[in-house]
Amino acid sequence: MRLVDIGANLTHPAFGPDRDDVLARARQAGVETIIVTGTTVEESRQASALGMPFTAGVHPHHARDCGPDTIPQIKALASHPHCVAIGECGLDFNRNYSPHPDQEKWFIAQLELGLSLRKPLFLHSRDAHPRFSQILKSHAVKQAVAHCFTGEREELRAYLDLGLYIGITGWICDERRGRHLIELVREIPRERLLLETDAPYLTPRDLKPQPKARRNEPAFLPHILKAVARALGRPAEEVAAETARNATELFSLHESGSSAAAQRPLAA
Ligand SMILES: [Zn+2]
Repeated sequence: MRLVDIGANLTHPAFGPDRDDVLARARQAGVETIIVTGTTVEESRQASALGMPFTAGVHPHHARDCGPDTIPQIKALASHPHCVAIGECGLDFNRNYSPHPDQEKWFIAQLELGLSLRKPLFLHSRDAHPRFSQILKSHAVKQAVAHCFTGEREELRAYLDLGLYIGITGWICDERRGRHLIELVREIPRERLLLETDAPYLTPRDLKPQPKARRNEPAFLPHILKAVARALGRPAEEVAAETARNATELFSLHESGSSAAAQRPLAA
């Protein structure tokens, strides 16, 4: 079985002490490729040093810290051979860590960068529908994933109409907040579905035993795969192969050779 985790925050300090062990466990679990999420310029830079596919961008939480250097810095990182997407970028009207005008400004700036570089976009949206979709539509964004989809049917339909890929996390394993996803995941076309852990966040709530400090990691992706396959009523192996193929296609993993990079020797 071959699995691709399209979003793991491996530069998070939670992985500082034992990242190589985490990678070894992921490989053991069949997670062949991990795309490291960049959430700030600095974290994107750290991600570029891991020798794995990564995204370069600024999360909407950090929009308030962006300035004139931000886009040139992301652009420079985007030329790295292992950079597979621009992001994560988007809007987060749930936490509101940055004012909405700042969030929109820097979301659009990254979106335009991605389009000009012909790079796919790794998109974050939380409680920002329909504004988020309006912006994507007016920019004719197509090569993109709505990562960690947790929304309702109308939001899903809007993304699918735009041609987006949909990233499903362990949110679907949450019997309190994620129950609706069990139904909605069936409405995602097979060629649009992607899987991700969003580690160290979003540890599947039904994982037994719960990991230490409740830290999520890419090795738990098969658990998410099984939950998705169960919801779809289909064999896990099939869903694994399809989602891996989708990830390879969206992020051109074969072209950049970055898939092989995830299998690099563990020697530091
Ligand atoms: Zn996110």
